[in-house]
Amino acid sequence: MSRASAHGTETRRTADWRDHAACLTTNPSIFYSGDEASTEEARRICTSCPVRSQCLTAAYTERDQWAIRGGRTVDERKRALRDAGGIIARAVADALQDTVHLLTHIYQQHTVTDDGHLIWTDPRVYVTVRGTAYTVNRIGFVGAHGRMPVGHVTRVCDRGGCVAADCLEDSPLREASRRRRVYEQWHGLVDAG
Ligand code: SF4
Ligand SMILES: [Zn+2]
Repeated sequence: MSRASAHGTETRRTADWRDHAACLTTNPSIFYSGDEASTEEARRICTSCPVRSQCLTAAYTERDQWAIRGGRTVDERKRALRDAGGIIARAVADALQDTVHLLTHIYQQHTVTDDGHLIWTDPRVYVTVRGTAYTVNRIGFVGAHGRMPVGHVTRVCDRGGCVAADCLEDSPLREASRRRRVYEQWHGLVDAG
């Protein structure tokens, strides 16, 4: 079976973010025509698309020179990439005002796995993004959990610099851990001490 979207007609590929594209059932020509009405309609569809950041990232990595992607024309994408110093993740994050996307990219760029932990490798102890300084623990939390933390972030393992998903907790996760410990103690699953 083939399906048409702004990304062309495709056959036999494995499932990915494109399956959730808001333009799957739209006439692809509006993303290519270049006339004002079509461009506005394409932008409107992109605005509500749940995979906008993946699409915009792919437009850069695939060097798409034709279509409106992520609500941005080819010229707009070029300008944004220039303004972002050539860093795709920054251009995407700026275009979509998506700080989580950018912090996740920073996290992926500056971590290595080590003995079951994930270690922050950048010498900086905080990184400023759009005027806000994020500590290593906060960047780690966003990168590991895909959302902004609630309250402060604490490390629950004893490995310095670890930013693994299981090793960082924000307020809701701390509360969930506390409840789990109480439950386990009540049910004799662990020693009360
Ligand atoms: S961002 Fe726009 S072009 Fe990209 S998948 Fe979504 S609707 Fe289609
Ligand atoms: Zn750890």
